[in-house]
Amino acid sequence: MMKHFVYADNAATSQLSPGALEAMLPWLKEEYANASQPYTFSRKPKKAIADARETIADCIGASPEEIFFSSCGTESNNWVIQRALNNLQCKGIITSNIEHHAVLRACEAAEKYFGATVDYLQVQNDGAVNVDSLSATISQSHGLVSIMTANNEIGTIQPVCELAEISHGMGCLFHTDAVQAIGHIPVNVKDSGVDFLSASAHKFNGPKGIGFLFVKKGVFLPPLIYGGGQESGFRAGTENVASIVGMATALAENVSELENNILHISDLESSLLHQLDEAGVRYHRNGSKNHIPGNISLSFEGFEGEAILHRLDLLGIHISTGSACDSKETKISHVLQAIGLEPDLAKGTIRISLGKNNTQDDVQIIAKALKKVIAR
Ligand code: PLP
Repeated sequence: MMKHFVYADNAATSQLSPGALEAMLPWLKEEYANASQPYTFSRKPKKAIADARETIADCIGASPEEIFFSSCGTESNNWVIQRALNNLQCKGIITSNIEHHAVLRACEAAEKYFGATVDYLQVQNDGAVNVDSLSATISQSHGLVSIMTANNEIGTIQPVCELAEISHGMGCLFHTDAVQAIGHIPVNVKDSGVDFLSASAHKFNGPKGIGFLFVKKGVFLPPLIYGGGQESGFRAGTENVASIVGMATALAENVSELENNILHISDLESSLLHQLDEAGVRYHRNGSKNHIPGNISLSFEGFEGEAILHRLDLLGIHISTGSACDSKETKISHVLQAIGLEPDLAKGTIRISLGKNNTQDDVQIIAKALKKVIAR
């Protein structure tokens, strides 16, 4: 079947993999039992959830008991930010000024409702957190540090291992929002030593409305959502069996193809930039050399990102301005402000995010369209 458009907004969401869809169907059709019931009809879904938990744990170097299913990345982030400090004396949180709103707004809520204090680390111009700035800020008053593994708007990857080590050195727990990283770059919780890690299936070719939280063995995190006894009593709500299975299948696929996907997407990325250069399109690239493959933030001086988005849309190309989750807000994104981008460049910023399903043809179409739009 011919594609009618080019989808290049994979950081906003990604296409469900056919394997994941296939794996989900039985749990939506004939095997619809509630996984927590004691009768035989529930045995298969119960086992499917246990298998999915094991698969996900294997993919990130965790144990199955350390994986808790949630409804999305936003919930996982809120769970940690709003609950990790509950049992601790110190109420200080350190985060960065380029986190996703699912962390930033949760921090604001923790300040407002739980008496937490929040310190924001200023990132460098490439979007990376300087480890020395964490060392200089952290004190006995802090209980939690939350720094994302990779940024959604510019793709910059953070030095998570070093940041976790510094946090532990001061007796703090360390959380990372790995929503943009899981399934796209190697992520191993044993190597990085993080205490909490948030993930969301729809960012790695799994279904929407399902995510997970890794909680390191021995670290206590009270529930955010109360009700039934699911997830060992830590996250209530009837299990979303089909989505849990779809998430595990998608993640296992991406992890097994990781090297090839990284090569393929990096190739597409170089090819796109090369074609823009060849066509004489002038742009400023945001972010760091150390970034999520395919996450390309480009600024065009004298243009409006919103206008570029709509022109490309008319040409059948779907990209984003800054963060898709922010698409209703027209103000300059907090990430572009944080990296010190001049307002004129920031206004003309788009994010193209390529995924494993994109092709060289897609990239050619995007480059040609951008040339046309920018020339106008
Ligand atoms: N964290 C980051 C870095 C994201 O990019 C997103 C979504 O864009 C989220 C959290 C929220 O994830 P979800 O859509 O699963 O709630």
